[in-house]
Amino acid sequence: LTFLGLESSCDDTAAAVVRSTPDGNEILSSVVAGQTELHAPFGGVVPEIAARAHAEKLDLCVEEALEQAGIGLDGLDGIAVTAGPGLIGGVMSGVMCAKGLAAGSGLPLIGVNHLAGHALTPRLTDNLPFPYLMLLVSGGHCQFLIAKGPEEFTRLGGTIDDAPGEAFDKVAKLLALPQPGGPAVEAEAAKGDPKAISLPRPLLDRPGCDMSFSGLKTAVLRARDQIIAQYGGLPRAKRADLCASFQAAVADVLAEKSRRALREYLTSAPQHPALAVAGGVAANTAIRASLETVCGEFGAQFLAPPLRLCTDNAAMIAYAGIERFRAGARDGMDLAARPRWPLDKTAPALLGSGK
Ligand code: ATP
Ligand code: FE
Repeated sequence: LTFLGLESSCDDTAAAVVRSTPDGNEILSSVVAGQTELHAPFGGVVPEIAARAHAEKLDLCVEEALEQAGIGLDGLDGIAVTAGPGLIGGVMSGVMCAKGLAAGSGLPLIGVNHLAGHALTPRLTDNLPFPYLMLLVSGGHCQFLIAKGPEEFTRLGGTIDDAPGEAFDKVAKLLALPQPGGPAVEAEAAKGDPKAISLPRPLLDRPGCDMSFSGLKTAVLRARDQIIAQYGGLPRAKRADLCASFQAAVADVLAEKSRRALREYLTSAPQHPALAVAGGVAANTAIRASLETVCGEFGAQFLAPPLRLCTDNAAMIAYAGIERFRAGARDGMDLAARPRWPLDKTAPALLGSGK
């Protein structure tokens, strides 16, 4: 099966062509047009600007993805599009574009949950069989999920306030580093000492897999102000120490909560010891390393996607569309854009910080 995927739920416009056969999966093309420069003057993603940029860029991305894949619409078996969750204007642009393509070509249309796209990525890259434990850790979400099927996810716990990606972005802002904050903070952290500044490890004293990251961000703010008061400014070396200490705190919390999630998951699926991580924060080398160590303790397989498949992309959407299609799903021209769309339908409404 060969699918075109479209993604426009946040600040990346993306289109990709993925082929999946019994022999394996192949990403024939994956085009991502970011909007970092457009939002830079505002210090965060501006929904109206994002929606307009998506509407302008989607067609071009699709053309480019098809051209790079060396395929026309007639070579496809379906069109998958992110139908939520995300910023409503962007999601609507994507859904409308996909509907137009499907109507014009007669191809099946499949709406995909953006989070399912992230959560199914280890199947795209490694053919990981169900079930597996997934830590989805991104700009807007942070949750442990047991992935049992393309549309079957059980949530074990998650953040009760900010997502770690959001915390990285806010810390970058506090320290006058560029956005997106994750890569910038990681680069600074490499020059600092992770033990230099003592920061909290929120919620580790409480049982379960729930996490909290907003206090950590406040602690960084306080530590920064102390340094400024003491030195009359923020010396480079201190900024690097702050980044390293913050990153270590996030990594510690994710590692300890992963231990608990693995313990809980393995009681239900002892024959499938695997933890996969996905989402933008999964691009972080220190976090990957600490999760790999945890998996080692449990004799569990650790899977982390290549960096370009951690952050938003359309290959994961095309692939999730293929999985839904194989499971018999089809969407019609009434496919709706859903700004909120929890993966686990049985979980309480509060999921991550939501965006
Ligand atoms: P969601 O998927 O929850 O809707 P999103 O699509 O905005 O949110 P992603 O594109 O998956 O999120 O991830 C973007 C986030 O990942 C940003 O907050 C960014 O700072 C963070 N990030 C990217 N690279 C790194 C890194 N190396 N270290 C830490 N965080 C990172
Ligand atoms: Fe995402």
